[in-house]
Amino acid sequence: MSLDLVRIPIDLHCHSINSDGSHTVEEVLDLVVKNSGKYIALTDHDTVDGVVAAREYGAKLGLNVIAGVEISVTWNNSLVHIVGLNIDTTNANLIKSLTGLRQLRFARGEKISANLAKIGIKNALEGAMSYCSNPLGLSRTHFAKFLVANGYATQSKVFNKYLVQGKIGYVPQIWATLEDAVSWITSSGGIALIAHPCRYKFNPTKLANLIADFKKYGGEGIEVISSSHTKLEIDSIAKIAKQWDLFGSLGSDFHDINANNPNICVGINYKLPHGVKPIYHKLGITQFD
Ligand code: AMP
Ligand code: MN
Ligand code: MN
Ligand code: MN
Repeated sequence: MSLDLVRIPIDLHCHSINSDGSHTVEEVLDLVVKNSGKYIALTDHDTVDGVVAAREYGAKLGLNVIAGVEISVTWNNSLVHIVGLNIDTTNANLIKSLTGLRQLRFARGEKISANLAKIGIKNALEGAMSYCSNPLGLSRTHFAKFLVANGYATQSKVFNKYLVQGKIGYVPQIWATLEDAVSWITSSGGIALIAHPCRYKFNPTKLANLIADFKKYGGEGIEVISSSHTKLEIDSIAKIAKQWDLFGSLGSDFHDINANNPNICVGINYKLPHGVKPIYHKLGITQFD
């Protein structure tokens, strides 16, 4: 199976300042237009706060905006991200559940800051908050920005030095269950998919177990094309998508025009490998066949 390196103007995964992205919704959508994108799902972490603004501004720009979210899940002691597409952003249960998750973030941030203080890094909470528009959205990404700006690490090393499991600035957090996250999405009319499956570094058995549980709860898709996947990983997940009869998704996972590698273009993505069922068919998009 070989990857077709043509890009198509659709992107089903990106972030704004409503979570840990660096740009406002309007800036993100302006970049989509600049990159000749046409279909864009805003998928901020644990919130749909930016979706209304995205719809309004997208309509002015002639973009097709899909309501999305990326939900933080703890599954078998591991962090997994589940993207929901085409959700009803007015669904009361969805909003309440996402708010519950967001309320965990500031308290975790206080603990991250206290841990960093133990090794002499002072005022990390205030520093991280200076990059964050809403305390409910406080993320490790904001701590990374503070640490880089103050010379504690370079952009490429900051997570591995301070913020990943086993490092001083990592505070374990129990997020949503997989079953709940999938059901919040599906019961608000959306489609659930496993985000960037290769980021988790699961062995094949653990990935198979995740997919089996995910399908059991009503999940239907998996990200095949992601900016965090190598070409080999794309081929491997394409095979898995076919084996498990999952729809394939594609997303830039854009956060920041400066920090990201230049290959990440919000609004456009490589085409799905041949034979993978595109998740955008479920959104009524057929023009890329
Ligand atoms: P949080 O939800 O606060 O735990 O932060 C998770 C976010 O941090 C992810 O959505 C990514 O944007 C970012 N992130 C996690 N791990 C890394 C990494 N190794 N390098 C760069 N960014 C990362
Ligand atoms: Mn993120
Ligand atoms: Mn993610
Ligand atoms: Mn993401």
